[in-house]
Amino acid sequence: MDMDFVDIEDPTDWPEALPHLHQLDAHLRCPICKEYFTTAMMLTSCGHNFCSLCIRRYLTTEKKCPSCRKSVDDSELLPNRLIDSITRSFRSNRWAMDGTQEIYKTKTAKKR
Ligand SMILES: [Zn+2]
Ligand SMILES: [Zn+2]
Repeated sequence: MDMDFVDIEDPTDWPEALPHLHQLDAHLRCPICKEYFTTAMMLTSCGHNFCSLCIRRYLTTEKKCPSCRKSVDDSELLPNRLIDSITRSFRSNRWAMDGTQEIYKTKTAKKR
């Protein structure tokens, strides 16, 4: 059994047949580093989420939300455990999704 893990680096790597996964993948990425959230933090005044490190680094230079430009302060940061849990389960289930992608590829005989 070939369990070659495909590392999907970009949300656009998802096959077009799986637009819902594509969207979910994009939602679980930090707008600053474009990677999956690492210890997600939410800005309480606007509700946008970022990795803890990313947003702290950002707020040292600019006291604004990188997503909506609202004036914020680092005291407004709150850990978003739900995002962390969703990101974790999404990533740990990716082997199943990669399997789906393999089936899709075989069906359409599409090569990357
Ligand atoms: Zn980040
Ligand atoms: Zn915002």
